[in-house]
Amino acid sequence: MAKTPKYVYFFGGGRADGNESMKNLLGGKGANLAEMAGHPALRLPVPPGFTITTEVCTHYYEHKRTYPGELKAQVTKALAEIERLVGKKFGDPADPLLVSVRSGARRSMPGMMETVLNVGLTEQTIQGLIKKTNNPRFAYDAYRRLIMMYSDVVMEKAAGIEPKGGKGIRKILDERLEHMKRAKGCANDTDLTVEDLKALVAEFKAKVREVLGKAFPDDPHEQLWGGIGAVFASWNGKRAVDYRRIEKIPDAWGTAVTVQSMVFGNMGDDCATGVAFSRNPGNGENSFYGEYLVNAQGEDVVAGIRTPAPINDYSKNAQSEHLPTLESLMPELYKQLDDNRKRLEKHYKDMQDIEFTIQNGVLYMLQCRVGKRNGVAAVRMATEMHKERLIDIHTAIMRVAPGQLVELLLPMLDPKAEKAAAPIAKGLPAGPGGARGRAVFSSKDAVEWAARGEKVILVREETSPEDVDGMHKSQAILTSKGGMTSHAALVARGWGKCCIVGCADVEIAGDEKSFRTKKGAVVREGEWVSLNGTSGLVYEGSLPLVDVDLDHNASFKDLMKLVDKARVLKVRTNADTPRDAAQAVKFGAEGIGLFRTEHMFYGEGSDKPLFLLRKMIMSKTLEERRRALDELFPHVKSDIKATLDVMEGMPVTVRLLDPPLHEFVPHDEQKLAALGRELGVDTAELRRRAEGLHENNPMLGHRGVRLGITYPEVTEMQVRAILEAAGELIKDGKKAFPEIMIPVTSALSELVDQKAIVERVYKQTCAKLGLRRIPFLYGTMIEIPRAALTAGRMAESAEFFSFGTNDLTQMGFGFSRDDIGSFLPDYLDKKILPTDPFQTIDEEGIGELIRFGIERGRATRPDLKVGICGEHGGDSDSVKFCHRVRMNYVSCSPFRVPIARLAAAQAAIEDQAAAPAAKKPAARKAAAKKSVAGKPAKKAAASKKPVRRK
Ligand code: ADP
Ligand code: MG
Ligand code: MG
Repeated sequence: MAKTPKYVYFFGGGRADGNESMKNLLGGKGANLAEMAGHPALRLPVPPGFTITTEVCTHYYEHKRTYPGELKAQVTKALAEIERLVGKKFGDPADPLLVSVRSGARRSMPGMMETVLNVGLTEQTIQGLIKKTNNPRFAYDAYRRLIMMYSDVVMEKAAGIEPKGGKGIRKILDERLEHMKRAKGCANDTDLTVEDLKALVAEFKAKVREVLGKAFPDDPHEQLWGGIGAVFASWNGKRAVDYRRIEKIPDAWGTAVTVQSMVFGNMGDDCATGVAFSRNPGNGENSFYGEYLVNAQGEDVVAGIRTPAPINDYSKNAQSEHLPTLESLMPELYKQLDDNRKRLEKHYKDMQDIEFTIQNGVLYMLQCRVGKRNGVAAVRMATEMHKERLIDIHTAIMRVAPGQLVELLLPMLDPKAEKAAAPIAKGLPAGPGGARGRAVFSSKDAVEWAARGEKVILVREETSPEDVDGMHKSQAILTSKGGMTSHAALVARGWGKCCIVGCADVEIAGDEKSFRTKKGAVVREGEWVSLNGTSGLVYEGSLPLVDVDLDHNASFKDLMKLVDKARVLKVRTNADTPRDAAQAVKFGAEGIGLFRTEHMFYGEGSDKPLFLLRKMIMSKTLEERRRALDELFPHVKSDIKATLDVMEGMPVTVRLLDPPLHEFVPHDEQKLAALGRELGVDTAELRRRAEGLHENNPMLGHRGVRLGITYPEVTEMQVRAILEAAGELIKDGKKAFPEIMIPVTSALSELVDQKAIVERVYKQTCAKLGLRRIPFLYGTMIEIPRAALTAGRMAESAEFFSFGTNDLTQMGFGFSRDDIGSFLPDYLDKKILPTDPFQTIDEEGIGELIRFGIERGRATRPDLKVGICGEHGGDSDSVKFCHRVRMNYVSCSPFRVPIARLAAAQAAIEDQAAAPAAKKPAARKAAAKKSVAGKPAKKAAASKKPVRRK
């Protein structure tokens, strides 16, 4: 007979069936509970329990929501083992064992799945609990919590009942509780008496029957299996599905269920429950950071019902500084907790997010997991843990998601403007950076307003998983309740979103259309507010945002040092001005991958050159055009020279004029008239000439190299400007290394035609300046599919390729980039395409063109230099692709340079992990060094016979 599959994994009493590596099967929570309970290095005090595997979840959905036949017996056996260890029996009227039913997917989904506590309490067993604990208040408090959670999670949500009028059973019961508190004049639920709670329980039960049409089950086993079923059902609940979509978690993973014996933080003042981080998740500092509540249970801390107290002085904030710390209140237990966090961090080698409960002076560990952190903290922790020798360099590099670096580069409120403005409120800084937007008061509004293109800030008392969508669409989140471990803080931290929580100064009006602050400021729906998520300050109006200063971020610099050791791919920038170029160099750019000559005809200081360009465009004869070009020449030269100068000999790829000329034709009469006077023709004639330039489809029209083919003198002027600029710098004892790039090519013959001009001008320039040589390269953009397909030929003339992936994607897909708005969202929604191909390279199609182009190009010219200059150069997934296809460099906007550097390093590390022997980054580096002038001779390419055709 086949062995029965194992569906249930036990933990407790110093042993465990599972361990940390079994997250896929046991979920993150189950796997870590097993590790904490069973690993010899830990064996922490974890209440015994068992985990039902994710395979059961899969079975459940594949078999019309039923369980495998063997499950029941395995659960019964594991439950008996808990009973043996705890010394209580489930359902025992004299001394009942109570359990929690907890969910846990592979990756943590905070607040997404449902947990039910105190399962096993019935009219009968509560009597035993009262007798055993001699604490009826506690017993009834536990009972009313069970009814609340169970009716909400199991009887309503999991049963798929849509609450009438949007008001769910939990909210209804919550109102009963609030009503009772008010009637009795209690500030906290802990102030209610036994009799109050007893009455509340009766009221709850009646309400449940009335609203849900079913009685709250009075049978422990029915409760247990109801709870288990609800966890599985909640995997496909709306909020879990929403969260998965945002976080790109596959639907097929499923959740595990953990059933665990209860420990109680709500039995009195020697009890507590809390949440803590082994390091500060807000800034990365290596200090124990956490919050707790005395005499409370489970989610009370996270839900923000009472203001949680700090576990130690370090964790104090403006709202909690007057509250006693755990360290001062229960020093012995605090020491134990602190010891546990140190052991956990040493064991997991990463920051841990810990849940604990203290029952009658005994500490229990209820959960640990790798803690979410914002980008600032991620960078600091990674580099400090590396220095502490807790992790190696590769681990440190992999710890920071490239997207998280964005946060360090994110704008903040302009300090000058902040100084001048008076804050209207102060809350807890839960997510750093600055943000501004119009105030909205519901998640639904946030979604709707954002869809209209409005920038919004979501203002709520507290957030719950239902708000996730609206939170995602908001610039920032502001809550009036909740602490640093509240739902809003947790979720914002995960996303790296600006967020202020626990802003008690803010009081939201009953109609949820405005808020008032203690200082008397009133902000209505749609009015602008600005948040400083780093300090927790809230401002009225729209304050300007500025970029951050990385020069003073030591951890960032440390990380970049590590990153540069690990990467092979070079990182350049797209820059058109000396200022952008200098900025990019500060961010670590190693050259310019795209310098667009036409930029000098736009914006500031462009009047004169633009006028001359127009003169050139409107010229009829070669003579006229040459004269205009001669006048334009010094402008182009000095413009290029300034940037070459800043780059100090690093390669600068200068792209020759790219856009269709018609784009530059003046439209207003005055400008047209001035141009006419200059050229000595009347406006009517000029207008005729302009009309002659009109094209039906200019993007596919007379642009790029085609201009140079029809007007060789235009190419000539630009090439002369580039080479003279470089030559003059060299004569001044400086360095310069231009790369002349021909855009929009599709055939070798175009390159050959233009190269003749380049070679002629080169000789003339050397002679003119008295130089023996001026270093430069001649190459082309590959942005038309035909160019990629004929790359083997193109490389006969081109010394470098730069993939223009914007146009290559546009032409490869036949998607007009300017018109995708009307259909791309549907493509993504319906999963016709996995991602926006203009953001992340479509590896399957466009990527194949690139791969093919590189292979063919290098077959012809083994030292062909290859890069990318489309927007994709700053997208981390695309950067990783570029590494894999062995490009020499990526080029991106200045602010994305650090992100690309990190992504490049991660690509090298991932590559090495995937194929340890074949292509070690170190080996690639060495190979690169050996080859001439930093142009790596790729073995794979070199071994192929060149397919040179004459
Ligand atoms: P989440 O996935 O939302 O973190 P948990 O399963 O961790 O949900 O449960 C929420 C809270 O319930 C925990 O933080 C813990 O305080 C409490 N809890 C869960 N199981 C137990 C238990 N066996 N004894 C006491 N408290 C528990
Ligand atoms: Mg929960
Ligand atoms: Mg938890």
